[in-house]
Amino acid sequence: MNIILLGPPGAGKGTQSARLVERHGMRQLSTGDMLRAAVKAQTPVGLKAKAVMDRGELVSDEIVSELIDAELAAMPAGQGAIFDGYPRTATQAEMLDALLEKHGRALDRVIELAVDEDALVDRITGRFTCARCGAGYHDRYRQPRQAGVCDECGSTEFKRRPDDNEETVRTRMQEYRAKTAPILPGYEARGIVRRVDGMASIDAVTAAIDAILA
Ligand code: AMP
Repeated sequence: MNIILLGPPGAGKGTQSARLVERHGMRQLSTGDMLRAAVKAQTPVGLKAKAVMDRGELVSDEIVSELIDAELAAMPAGQGAIFDGYPRTATQAEMLDALLEKHGRALDRVIELAVDEDALVDRITGRFTCARCGAGYHDRYRQPRQAGVCDECGSTEFKRRPDDNEETVRTRMQEYRAKTAPILPGYEARGIVRRVDGMASIDAVTAAIDAILA
């Protein structure tokens, strides 16, 4: 299975991708994660992308598509792919079709996480992760059981994304509305879109996605 998780920032794409990886042995292809790794390693791509990401704007279609191409090339043919945060523009959607064909894959489903935009700013600005294992938390909705200690690995170090501030989140929403949402009708015409209520609990969303993939 090759699927796209589509939805605005904070819709739960990363959270649900991590669960799909765990439950179905699929591979998460998150261009946001790849770019953050490139920024951290100060690669040429990272140096170029950092300022754009800090503003909440989109990096170039070519850069992200090259990252996806390299990941697909390194994957075993039988392993399913979850595209998380890619494609984000009509051009990227076209590039993905070409890349899937190149790597002998087909797109099975586009799962749209439908969310109430007002709730997203609240979700995003409160989120943080364990700096060691990446477990996700939230100031109001999911604090570690013991304050300051990761439930999963016991680490006491946490981090927040620099672009998870209100101003940048608003720009990211605008980018989603202007450039990403318009790619949905093309997938709808192919009959592969399934909509899930992204405002439901994390477990309920996972169950809905599992039902779609069954
Ligand atoms: P994300 O982790 O998916 O929210 O992505 C974080 C940031 O990385 C975005 O705000 C963009 O600046 C950049 N980015 C991630 N994926 C893409 C993409 N497919 N196309 C363009 N920019 C992207």
